Amino acid sequence: MQGKTVLLVEDEAAIVDVVRRYLERDGYRVMVASDGQRAVDEFQRLRPDLVLLDLMLPGLDGWEVCRRIRQDGSTPVIMLTARDEEADKLIGLELGADDYITKPFSPREVVARVRAVLRRARGAEAVPGDVVRVHDLEIDPARVEAFRNGQALALTPTEFKLLFTLARHPGRVFTRLQLLDQVQGYAFEGYERTIDAHIKNIRQKLEPDPRKPRYILTVHRVGYRLAEDGRA
Ligand code: CA
Repeated sequence: MQGKTVLLVEDEAAIVDVVRRYLERDGYRVMVASDGQRAVDEFQRLRPDLVLLDLMLPGLDGWEVCRRIRQDGSTPVIMLTARDEEADKLIGLELGADDYITKPFSPREVVARVRAVLRRARGAEAVPGDVVRVHDLEIDPARVEAFRNGQALALTPTEFKLLFTLARHPGRVFTRLQLLDQVQGYAFEGYERTIDAHIKNIRQKLEPDPRKPRYILTVHRVGYRLAEDGRA
């Protein structure tokens, strides 16, 4: 079995040691970058399958690293946040991170999240199901590509899966927890707001006017649905 490569971006040696040990034991190849600029360089050189990204780094901070990685494709990123602050997480997710883990964490949790995010990314390579056509959208699970009016939307795997889930059932209301379960394969209470950040990103790419969404509609206090008639 060829191990997946994880780029671990972290400047605290103690955390690097323990996370590396657990990931390697689980069969991953682990490369380490200890500051932000090196992280960007190593990312471009190594093309890892996943990036574990600490936010507080010397040089470029984690947000800037995430922004640069995102300009360069849809490699999954899991953020390691030092504080349990909602704002930190949401900024990370708005920059296109797939998930986050709050310190202090158990190394087992890190391994479980890495596995889940990679499974999700791999799943996105071929989401089971037929092409969905709704309004002027075309969503192709085999190619993991979505189009509006024939124009490709540059969605991350997580964003693709969310849009695909909503579009398969136009008009059906999904709660945040249901959507979280769909895209992550697990759902924890308290993480529902991550869905809002992903939806915001999708709207930026999908909606002609993201402030007045026509496709993905907010259902007050509940969640989201895809407009049934496209003229909402
Ligand atoms: Ca740090």
